[in-house]
Amino acid sequence: MSETVTPSATEGEAGTVVIVGAGHAGGRAALQLRRRGHAGRVVMIGAEAELPYERPPLSKGYLKGTESAGDMALRPAEDWATERIEHIAGATVTAIDPAARAVELADGRRIGFDHAICATGGRARALPVPGADALLGLRDLADAAALRARLAGARRLVVVGGGVIGLEVAATACALGCAVTVLEAGPRVMARILPPEASDWLAGRHAAAGVEIRTGVHISQVVPLGDGSIVVETGAGPVAADLGLYAIGIVPEAGLVRGARVGASGGLATDAFCRVEGTEGRVFAIGDIAETPNPVLGRPARLETWRNAETQAAAVAATLCGTPTQAQETPWMWTDQLGHNIQVVGAWEGRGETLWRGAPGAPGSVLFWLEGARVRGAVLIDAGREKRFVEGLVAAGTPVDPAALADPAQRLKALLQAPAAAG
Ligand code: NAP
Repeated sequence: MSETVTPSATEGEAGTVVIVGAGHAGGRAALQLRRRGHAGRVVMIGAEAELPYERPPLSKGYLKGTESAGDMALRPAEDWATERIEHIAGATVTAIDPAARAVELADGRRIGFDHAICATGGRARALPVPGADALLGLRDLADAAALRARLAGARRLVVVGGGVIGLEVAATACALGCAVTVLEAGPRVMARILPPEASDWLAGRHAAAGVEIRTGVHISQVVPLGDGSIVVETGAGPVAADLGLYAIGIVPEAGLVRGARVGASGGLATDAFCRVEGTEGRVFAIGDIAETPNPVLGRPARLETWRNAETQAAAVAATLCGTPTQAQETPWMWTDQLGHNIQVVGAWEGRGETLWRGAPGAPGSVLFWLEGARVRGAVLIDAGREKRFVEGLVAAGTPVDPAALADPAQRLKALLQAPAAAG
């Protein structure tokens, strides 16, 4: 099969835009292009059968059965045709060639472009032990549907990886009446995202709910027992379960763009406009795959968050529609577990002084981390109302008086408006 779409841009127009990856970031970029007046062709190519959807419910509401696939859709199915967004589903892209301005598909098709957007995200990191394929993964809707079906009849679940997916699934399964054991390799849970005090608080909440969390676990193999149940062999003995999930991070899908530079995080290195280095401005990268200079962190960063997908999709669409726009993202993520809403502003980088505002872990409390007098990030525990002020403090690097920050009687809004002398 061979189809070639010829680039069509005239001076100053984005022309045909091909988006590789029809997930949240890719779908949002397509919609933003239309919203901002892009008149040319928009072709979105995805490996999955589905139209773009948001992933946060996969490990929570969808798994619990309180949200449907339709609830997660970025837009109702008919809107994509109305918006003249072409969707090639179930397709494997093998290369994005900036020099030839063409995307190559495994089935032999070549799709020409004036600009391409790489929104390929990442795949679930494989657990490198014998028998690991007896564990389920959780990256897309098909994975979540399989997990949901299996959870319905399960009494005991083992989760490999105490990261954000592992703990969200543990909390959901626990609410469904399943006994859960989490096996984490590192010394604490959600260590990529949370300072130690917040990890400890969260592990305590899980323990109180009946989730067994084991840290420092080395897994040697997974033994399938034939009836779907498994035994996970660890350095500290076997763990038996009806069902097992692995969630040990993602590997960015960064290999498609010819001539591109892969950054330290494994993502595609871009400039502040999300233009992939080495592609002469013809290819952009957005979402989990993009390693982009981050003004708040002061370094290039690859952010695996819902909002980063939104921010970068909007910035690239604006640039392609004639308003050059840098992606300015203060890192922010949220997770809902065991009845708690936990939000993280900034990126924990393993350093800084921490302080609690409010009783540690109490609803409404905030764990800040600072460098000198400047707020670098925070974990908000059932404290969503404070988010915009916390974000303001982090984005501006506002100097604060730590004693005032720790005192819930002092309003964060006031600290934001009246910075202390820089430390
Ligand atoms: P993750 O948050 O990076 O956590 C993976 C965890 O697995 C880490 O704690 C890691 O420990 C541990 N691990 C690594 N190798 C292991 C091994 N061999 N045995 C046991 N544990 C091991 O990744 P994830 O939970 O898989 O999530 C994947 C992606 O989905 C991320 O991009 C995440 O941000 C995204 N996601 C986000 C949300 C949200 O924002 N609410 C929800 C769901 C998913 P070390 O750190 O010690 O390696």
